Amino acid sequence: MVALGLARLLTAHMRIETLAVHAGHAPDPSTGAVTPPIHLSTTFEREADGQYRAGLVYSRYANPNRTALEECLATLEGGAGAACFASGSAATATILQSLEAGAHVIAPDDAYFGTTKLMHDIFGPWKLEVSLADMTDLRSVERALRASTRLIWIETPSNPLLRVVDIASLAEIAHAHSALCVVDNTWATPVLQQPLSLGADVAMHATTKYLGGHSDVLGGALVWRTDGPVAQRIRAIQTSVGAVPSPFECWLTMRGVRTLPWRVRAHSANALALATYLTNHRRIERVHYPGLLDHSGHEIASRQMSGFGGMLSLQVCGGREAAMEAAARLRIVTRATSLGGTESLIEHRASVEGPGTRAPENLLRLSVGLEHVDDLIEDFDQALR
Ligand SMILES: *Cc1c(COP(=O)(O)O)cnc(C)c1O
Repeated sequence: MVALGLARLLTAHMRIETLAVHAGHAPDPSTGAVTPPIHLSTTFEREADGQYRAGLVYSRYANPNRTALEECLATLEGGAGAACFASGSAATATILQSLEAGAHVIAPDDAYFGTTKLMHDIFGPWKLEVSLADMTDLRSVERALRASTRLIWIETPSNPLLRVVDIASLAEIAHAHSALCVVDNTWATPVLQQPLSLGADVAMHATTKYLGGHSDVLGGALVWRTDGPVAQRIRAIQTSVGAVPSPFECWLTMRGVRTLPWRVRAHSANALALATYLTNHRRIERVHYPGLLDHSGHEIASRQMSGFGGMLSLQVCGGREAAMEAAARLRIVTRATSLGGTESLIEHRASVEGPGTRAPENLLRLSVGLEHVDDLIEDFDQALR
């Protein structure tokens, strides 16, 4: 049994739908409000004896809404604790800041563009050494190891080719070299994949995406498997630097999380149906979706995930122009970056990423929303004339 602050007693065996609704939530003790209040106060009263009533001092250190969200995310990922940040990128930066100077990091050659940019442009001048590896090939990760390797960063499924890598094997490689294993679990969400149970030390999230779920709040999180020096260092950076989400942002994210399991399942069902339709379309050269039997990552994904997610990429016959034209003709699907919201979004990754992109020129990345799948299929039908 884990007692989550003032929340109801939740047991570890409870299903994720129940945890998503109740973890970090309880009627407000002072008013009985069922929906949690938003605590805007930045500072908290000190008692005459010097104590703080609820242990709260100043909201850079902790705030009730942020603590509730951290409890909730730790529960969903099966972790010992969590720290929330103002963005996914701030969460990533915290992991990099936690490393010693001169540390070497191995990251996937197709990691989220902002992650590798952060490693090179922001932490390069601070002497962070970075090797990019094709993590679908474990030997290429082993070859990249150095005596100074302190972190193996994993992202699966990857962006934008939806490549899937074996978290358990990579965590073993990391631990055999006393390195940390961190998994960016943004795309899969804890509903489909639980990296900590596969041996990773930390799960990272851009809560901006599926956890928030409505394209209206930016945020990030780090969830650790066990309390210890890594967790302490993350907490120290979070509270001293203060790249934290506001109470309202935490509240909005909590509200999104309550429906997460149901949304993720609907996103996944829509994505599989759309991927199947697009695979058979004469104007489509290739569809990248781990739920398709011929996808290179299908076998590992079937083992390590409980569903294949709401993201897919398609390559349009006829190159960049044909891809741009198809995207321009879509009526329901919106042309915009980001993912994980209720609305379907499509994006030409190569032009968004700019010079140095590895995305094929005819590739469109699709975040499949919660519209009726037949309407989405009809939209592609008319756009791919
Ligand atoms: C969006 C995203 C990030 C960065 O999150 P921000 O909130 O935009 O900083 C990191 N990783 C993945 C996989 C993402 O999709």
